[in-house]
Amino acid sequence: MRTAIVGGGAAGFFLAINLKELCPQMEVTIFEKSKKVLAKVEVSGGGRCNCTNSFESVSDLSQVYPRGHRLMKRLFKAFDYHDAYAWFERHGVRLVTQDDDCVFPASQDSHTIINLFLAEARRHHIDICTQSKIESLDQLSEFDYIAITTGGMPKAHDSLFTFHHSLFTPPVPSLFTFSIEDEALHALMGTVVEDATAFIPGTNFRATGPLLITHWGMSGPAILKLSSYAARELHDHNYQMPLAINWISGKVAGNQEAVKEEIIKLQAQSAMLKVSKVRPFDLPSRLWSYLLEKALGERAQNRWQNLNKKELNRLVNILCNDSYQIAGRAAFKDEFVTCGGIDLSTINPHTLESKDIPNLYFAGEVLDIDGITGGFNFQAAWTTAYTVAKAISHTT
Ligand SMILES: Cc1cc2nc3c(=O)[nH]c(=O)nc-3n(C[C@H](O)[C@H](O)[C@H](O)COP(=O)(O)OP(=O)(O)OC[C@H]3O[C@@H](n4cnc5c(N)ncnc54)[C@H](O)[C@@H]3O)c2cc1C
Repeated sequence: MRTAIVGGGAAGFFLAINLKELCPQMEVTIFEKSKKVLAKVEVSGGGRCNCTNSFESVSDLSQVYPRGHRLMKRLFKAFDYHDAYAWFERHGVRLVTQDDDCVFPASQDSHTIINLFLAEARRHHIDICTQSKIESLDQLSEFDYIAITTGGMPKAHDSLFTFHHSLFTPPVPSLFTFSIEDEALHALMGTVVEDATAFIPGTNFRATGPLLITHWGMSGPAILKLSSYAARELHDHNYQMPLAINWISGKVAGNQEAVKEEIIKLQAQSAMLKVSKVRPFDLPSRLWSYLLEKALGERAQNRWQNLNKKELNRLVNILCNDSYQIAGRAAFKDEFVTCGGIDLSTINPHTLESKDIPNLYFAGEVLDIDGITGGFNFQAAWTTAYTVAKAISHTT
């Protein structure tokens, strides 16, 4: 029996190796269109490969898989992050889990994963054909099984997918940073607020976490998560949407009333001091000055006792609901994935086999599954690839 795997990336290699482990008599060939296999693994996680996550802080998979969380929950029963962790360690790659739950090879080098995959492929006599772009399934007619692992940004008009035209959720980018046209904000470049909430007013899209101000706008986990949650809506609005930031969501629980109480207390305690001299909620000083200027203008030079009710309200509002306009999307060099791909309703959720074409399977980012940053995308590649390997091995 012969299996063709189209795409020599993370999912393609993991599928090939697991298939050979489960079914040693299977002949497996990987077709890769470019000269080099595993190119994304090499650059992933800044060259360190954030290969999975401990999921310790994840209470609901929809928090980390905006698309595909139901299917991932089902597939995790057979192969989850514990299994991925154990798989790599069993194959000689020692892993470490960081305080932020991200898992990396202890070597801190993505080549450890690449070398493992290449060595296993050699050991199992997996054929690797580079510079072999598959344009049509007809090219693979002598194979018994075909697995498509071609990664993100598939194009519906790509000849490889002509059979699947109507079964395709159009791919759009996910995990990017926001351009914001505000020079005073750009001047705060490098400022980090550890626990902010970014949200799109009038929608349910909101994300909490560290927020980084850059020389083009905003980045950091809170913004990347928001870009992932709202990937399609942002695309549909040409990356021009309102954005609001709660700069102190990690400091004051509750609504604006609770924040107002804190500010009124502060006013009483610091009545004689200049507003700019008293920095509440441990906000970085440059950010505090910027927010004061935005809320109070010249009045920011006043003493606390001179602020009237309206000004206090403006201050509270800017701390909890500071508004911006997203002017565009900027690349995030550490990770970039696709929202969209093969519609999950068109595949068997147990095997990831096409419902229309027998013996045709899909794994990895080509599926309409994508995660936020933190190792969740590779975990989706390992889980879906393992599922397909197992499904093919069960049919033989
Ligand atoms: C810069 C960067 C850093 C990242 N860092 C991380 C990280 O640290 N942690 C994490 O979890 N995720 C990370 N990701 C996301 C992760 O790399 C992807 O989710 C993952 O690589 C998807 O694996 P895949 O095998 O499905 O696709 P890919 O890795 O993209 O592999 C697909 C392969 O198929 C080939 N191909 C495409 N079409 C054809 C064709 N017609 N014929 C033959 N071959 C074809 C492509 O050339 C490619 O080699 C990062 C992504 C980027 C861009």
